[in-house]
Amino acid sequence: MSAPHRQGSSTRRPDDPTSAAIRRVLVVCLGVGLVTLVVVAALRWSDPVTRGAFPALGLVIGVFGWLVLRHPSAVVVASRLVLIVLDAGWLVMLGLRLALPPERGGGWDELFPTVFMGLVLFLVIGYVIFDTRQAGLHAAVVILVILAVGSGALIGQPQHRHHVLDLVRYGIYLGVLTAMLHVLSRSKEQATRALQAARYASAEAASMREMAYRDPLTGAANRRRLDDELVYQARLVASGIPVALVYLDLDHFKQINDAYGHETGDRVLATVATVLERGLRSGDVVARLGGEEFVAVAPGLDRAAAAQTAERLRRALTEAVAAQVGVQVTASVGVTMVRPGESPQAVIARADALMYRAKRDGRNRVVADTAPSEE
Ligand code: GH3
Ligand code: MG
Ligand code: MG
Repeated sequence: MSAPHRQGSSTRRPDDPTSAAIRRVLVVCLGVGLVTLVVVAALRWSDPVTRGAFPALGLVIGVFGWLVLRHPSAVVVASRLVLIVLDAGWLVMLGLRLALPPERGGGWDELFPTVFMGLVLFLVIGYVIFDTRQAGLHAAVVILVILAVGSGALIGQPQHRHHVLDLVRYGIYLGVLTAMLHVLSRSKEQATRALQAARYASAEAASMREMAYRDPLTGAANRRRLDDELVYQARLVASGIPVALVYLDLDHFKQINDAYGHETGDRVLATVATVLERGLRSGDVVARLGGEEFVAVAPGLDRAAAAQTAERLRRALTEAVAAQVGVQVTASVGVTMVRPGESPQAVIARADALMYRAKRDGRNRVVADTAPSEE
């Protein structure tokens, strides 16, 4: 088995199981955000920072909400852009609060709790919409800019120097929060990768199981699959459902190989398998026993219908091979009914004997079992 594809960590993949959840959370957050914005704007319209920033903020949330609802494929890119715009807007607001005098809504105390809490929220959102490495970078830049803006303001306002400790504490809290988010995000990415690898391995195992049950030349089932099917069908027969088995052997197939070559022989075999598959129902199993021998298992076909079906298939394969490969081929066919609980070997041996009777009787014919089955 080849190794599972490695998933790059630089982009959030469309099959990331969290994508749909992120979108739902965004829709709820945007709704709550808009309502909050309107309420705060109504209550604090006298504040110049609110008046200046909120209309633009409302526009950004509105456009983003429209994107989330109408263009889901653009949500991840749009979320990242909006978050960066909000970061910048929030940092400008932080700078303005620090620069303005208290009577105009400025001052250190005005930053708590909403402006600082907003930035905490943005760091968390960063870990949801960016990949871990990008989110770490985003958090580091935001924290550094806060420290720079805060320090700048404190240097310019000596009366607020005692807030230096607050700024340092705030930087440390954000740093610890970022470290915790980083660990969680890493674990989540590893879990997602493990899940994707498990899905890939399971699909691979399913295809290997499929290959273990298929004849590679014709795509028909192989002997192992046929045996499993017959064990299952013998139980079905016990509950009263008739199950027919049709055994076909191509006549003088060796001569076809000798006259036209092995490759043409292979094409004949593939064509016969196709004719059998198409001529039966989807629940029926067509198997190649090896060489030029095929078996079809058809549940629900009674003795008379099975003989008719075998006759139809015998004619159809001659016509299809002549049309598609340009070779004249016939088949000898034995038809029998599966008996309750009997082994695959027993039913196949009985059908094989009937097929040989068809050979002995002159080939290119169907011989059906006339003995009453033990239903
Ligand atoms: P009969 O009418 O008695 O069944 O004669 P026959 O020639 O069909 O039977 P025989 O068992 O003598 O020969 C079967 C031939 O099938 C021999 C072999 O070369 C050929 N054969 C078996 N497997 C394959 C295969 O995968 N591809 C091709 N092209 N030929 C195969
Ligand atoms: Mg044979
Ligand atoms: Mg043969």
